[in-house]
Amino acid sequence: MPGLPRRHLLLGLAATAIALRAAPPSEAQAPASAGPPDPALVEDLVAANRILVDQGVVDGYGHVSARHPASAERYLMARSIAPELVTAADIMEYDLDSVPVDARGRRTYLERFIHGEIYRARPDVRAIVHNHSPSVIPFGVTGVPLRPLYHMSAFLAGGVPVFDIRQASGGMTDMLVRDAALGRALARTLGPAPVALMRGHGAVVVGPSLPVVVFRSVYTEVNARLQAQAMALGGTVTFLDPEEARRAEASITGTIERPWELWKRKAQGR
Ligand SMILES: [Zn+2]
Repeated sequence: MPGLPRRHLLLGLAATAIALRAAPPSEAQAPASAGPPDPALVEDLVAANRILVDQGVVDGYGHVSARHPASAERYLMARSIAPELVTAADIMEYDLDSVPVDARGRRTYLERFIHGEIYRARPDVRAIVHNHSPSVIPFGVTGVPLRPLYHMSAFLAGGVPVFDIRQASGGMTDMLVRDAALGRALARTLGPAPVALMRGHGAVVVGPSLPVVVFRSVYTEVNARLQAQAMALGGTVTFLDPEEARRAEASITGTIERPWELWKRKAQGR
């Protein structure tokens, strides 16, 4: 039967093609792991998720990540799950293209590109929060700048840029940063700042550690609420002078471990 080997070959090729197609792209091209992260960092990342819920910064949506301590090219973030439900088992490792190292069928956040592209653009950043923090939303849509009006939010003194996804994409979107190009555009808008607002969506907050990024997320939300209240009173609002802000930030930065310890203990106690 001279035709048989050829038929076997074709069947073999077809089987290979089906097998290749069946492998999810993320697993077929999975990047190498930087190794297991420090359990203490994972514990802090889990705590950060719950603290941000407790403090009204995130709800069923929003996410927080940390750069991998062993590689600047990797970061750690939960699978797609509500922040309050995150446990250590949910933490996944991603490369800066936001491809998971070991997906194992787990779903990933649609807007993970926010994290990968900011880590790529900002070597100083070691933790990132993306949230839909309600009090900041009006400042993203009115052109009224968010400015520090008390010492706890002195870190806002350099200005809070606003990312407009319509300008970045050149058209209509579903408002989500769902690809690398939009993530890069957001990182460009953020520039060297600690916080950027996202028009009609929320905010991104960055910092050198999880305690700092959680602190900044909490007090960005509080400052926005207080600023709206102060402006509603109708008088002239006196914001922090840049020099006051510089001094206040230097003082407060040394005390961030105090609220972090409290918030973490409360978050772990339930
Ligand atoms: Zn979002």
